[in-house]
Amino acid sequence: MRCLTAVFVSLLICLPVMAIDPPTPSKPIKQASSKEDVSDKEEIISSPKPVSKSVKASRDRIAEAARAKESKAADELAAKIAERLSVIRKEKDDVVKLAPRPVVRGYAPPVRRPERSEFRPKAESGTDAAQAVGGRAAASAHSALHWSYQGEGGPLGWGKLSAANAKCDSGERQSPIDIRDGIRVDLDPLTFDYKPSRFSVTDTGYTIQVNLGAGNFINVSGRTYELVQFHFHKPSEERINGKGFDMVIHLVHKDGDGRLAVVALLIERGKSQSLVQSVWNNLPLEKNEPVQALNTMDLSKLLPVGRDYYTYMGSLTIPPCTEGVLWLVMKETIEISAEQIDIFSWLYPMNARPIQKTSGRLIKESN
Ligand SMILES: [Zn+2]
Repeated sequence: MRCLTAVFVSLLICLPVMAIDPPTPSKPIKQASSKEDVSDKEEIISSPKPVSKSVKASRDRIAEAARAKESKAADELAAKIAERLSVIRKEKDDVVKLAPRPVVRGYAPPVRRPERSEFRPKAESGTDAAQAVGGRAAASAHSALHWSYQGEGGPLGWGKLSAANAKCDSGERQSPIDIRDGIRVDLDPLTFDYKPSRFSVTDTGYTIQVNLGAGNFINVSGRTYELVQFHFHKPSEERINGKGFDMVIHLVHKDGDGRLAVVALLIERGKSQSLVQSVWNNLPLEKNEPVQALNTMDLSKLLPVGRDYYTYMGSLTIPPCTEGVLWLVMKETIEISAEQIDIFSWLYPMNARPIQKTSGRLIKESN
């Protein structure tokens, strides 16, 4: 009985304590084993409370160590990230180098086209020289095989490519020139007798050339010349008082004695030209293989209204640079559209011989 009473009394004493501060199963309170541990336990349970200096120093050391550890870990992580980024960047660069260029809708990236000099015309039949000078050019065909407008074989070296081209270097009456300081006179009228004709289009490797059927003539100073062919240059080879033009058409004529007369039509960007379009419509897919057009061409529709012109004696503007050519440069320009210029430019972005010395030659112009 005494024993039961003792147990009951103990329970009475303990119950209020348990009610005030019951142990939490999820947070078991560590059994105190030392003074420090007791102190920690007190802080957890009933913080804040005054803390002794030694305990505070100890806690500072622990915190400091933790911060140092965290800092070291952060540094290591940063180093790893930087290393990984550099690997990713390198991989990306390699992919960009290998990948094809992106194609933006509506924009075709420039395609490298072979240099003109990479094309070797099969024969000289398509060039100014052959058409203008006839059989004589055939003999010098080999001399002109390697000429070009840029780089190796360019205009400054034409005369050295062959003895037949000597005039390109040594000639004193070469073309084209900058036409200036002409004397104004009443020039003989230049008359055109052009008619609708069958035509073929040839890509000579140097220009686009149009050959017409017989029966197209010009008359100047009492002399009649028959049209042999016409072709294009971009930009214009001629200059007028220093001014160049977008393009030029050279209409090459020859008289019964084999003398040459070239009419130059200077071209400016403007409205579309239907006759030029009919040439573009028949552009050959292969070089030196003429395309015979199904329709006819009336060259009189290409001419400017005005008939005033500049005139001087010059040469062919391609090897072998033959001299004794009568040049007739129309004062009034003609127009073709920007799109039409672009089409030619795609084939021949630059096929103009540089300006040659005038060397005191007489230039006349219509009053
Ligand atoms: Zn020409």
